[in-house]
Amino acid sequence: MTPRHLRAHSVDGIGSLARRRCMVRLSAILATALVPACAVADWHSADDPFTLGVASGDPTSDGFVLWTRLAPRPTDGGGMPDLPIAVDWTVSTDERQTRIVRRGRATADPRLGHSVHVEIEGLDPDRWYWYRFTAGGAASPVGRTRTAPAPGAPVPRLRFAFASCQHYEHGLFGAYRHMARDDLDLVLHLGDYIYEGSSAGRVPRRHETKEEPVDLIQYRNRYACYKSDPHLRAAHANFPWLVTWDDHEVENDYAADQSENRDDPAWFLQRRAAAYQAYYEHMPLRRASLPRGPDMLLYRRAAFGDLATFHVLDNRQYRSDQPCGEGRRGGGNMVANCTDRLDPSATLWGATQERWLEQGLAASRGRWNVLAQSLMMAQFTSRDASGHPVHWTDGWDGYAAARTRFLARVAAAKISNPLSIGGDIHSFWASELKVDFDDARAPVVMPEFVGTSITSRGRSYESTLKLLPANPHVRFFDSRQRGYARAEATPARLHMAFQGIADPLDDGSALRTVAAFVVEAGRPDLERA
Ligand code: FE
Ligand code: CA
Repeated sequence: MTPRHLRAHSVDGIGSLARRRCMVRLSAILATALVPACAVADWHSADDPFTLGVASGDPTSDGFVLWTRLAPRPTDGGGMPDLPIAVDWTVSTDERQTRIVRRGRATADPRLGHSVHVEIEGLDPDRWYWYRFTAGGAASPVGRTRTAPAPGAPVPRLRFAFASCQHYEHGLFGAYRHMARDDLDLVLHLGDYIYEGSSAGRVPRRHETKEEPVDLIQYRNRYACYKSDPHLRAAHANFPWLVTWDDHEVENDYAADQSENRDDPAWFLQRRAAAYQAYYEHMPLRRASLPRGPDMLLYRRAAFGDLATFHVLDNRQYRSDQPCGEGRRGGGNMVANCTDRLDPSATLWGATQERWLEQGLAASRGRWNVLAQSLMMAQFTSRDASGHPVHWTDGWDGYAAARTRFLARVAAAKISNPLSIGGDIHSFWASELKVDFDDARAPVVMPEFVGTSITSRGRSYESTLKLLPANPHVRFFDSRQRGYARAEATPARLHMAFQGIADPLDDGSALRTVAAFVVEAGRPDLERA
């Protein structure tokens, strides 16, 4: 308990009484816990508890998730008393919160870092709403979000952006400044929302500590550090988000229970449990994603009428270990002649998620079916000095048999306009995915767009450029800009623009379109716009 954040009279009065009453209810297992009925309502905070801002996500045709987390001392454990705190919320049809259509009281539970996840239902489809929280005598910023169109309803247009890889120490979040002002219906985050590792050398700003987080408090502090950036908070406050993770939300290149450093898997799963819980606590996710020990259900779908269905995928939790590893070091490697990457028993999604995806693609009513996942799917081959093919084993190239299997099934199933979006490699890529990448005449199964990083440093432009002629299915590459990707889907076509900022060290840096592409419905080929 932190008495200075409580009124003197509530420390002994409300505090101890509420604590005793709550104990019985709070003894339930975390994963099955429901909202405790005994939250403290007359708590007053000396400092603003809404330092992390507000967010919304996982929209349906009648609602969405509203999120905040009370944290008056954001990078120092949060600074909250060890009690459940009542948080009031309102949803309105106007920004000034005068036409309120829903209101309620939620509980900021200390076991979930005083995060709040409110699932709103029963609203009108396809319209904007505004929302706000109040607690501790303070009001949060007003957030804006929207419902999806009704299931199967005709939708003339959907605009969405996607982002990834936002190393806090590599730059300012100027890309989010532009995104927050963009005209969008939805934002997707495709992973590396935080980085567990800190950078050596000169950087424009520093994490709250250079130590890697391993426990829950440390991961909470890291998320709070990232959310201290006002442009990130603004992008959250202006649109509903659909989020998934990649590796750095836990540890570089981890695979299921295998850490990069080959830690004891039992220990690593404890670290993963802490990291997954902190992720849940800081994202606008539904109760279905509440972590259970080291496990957390993150793959899910969001549909926008008859126009688009997003299949949000988890590329880390269920994968087999990277192939062709070098003894004690786990994670990815650049490996020549790695035949184990062709092992058909290897999996990136796990059998259950793979089946869920294939069934969902077949049943989808969306004209566009977007695979939202963290990695580049396209094959990318380089050569060693002897001319042997070299592949990066942490990406899809390390799981080539699983990729072939999936793309062959998509091709056979005649899915309506599939496309993949990804991140991870800090550069823009537009590619044509094929069952056999080595056959130049093989038909295109779907287009793929990989967005650059928000800030994380990119790969070498010149050396990668030299490899493009040997990878003709890669139609565009540029690693020189930080930024995001912006898509506009209509029934007839999908337009994709790669949006780059000139200088990630300047959060006022201008935005320009680096390249743009068009995909015509019914034709998976890429065309430059
Ligand atoms: Fe990254
Ligand atoms: Ca990554």
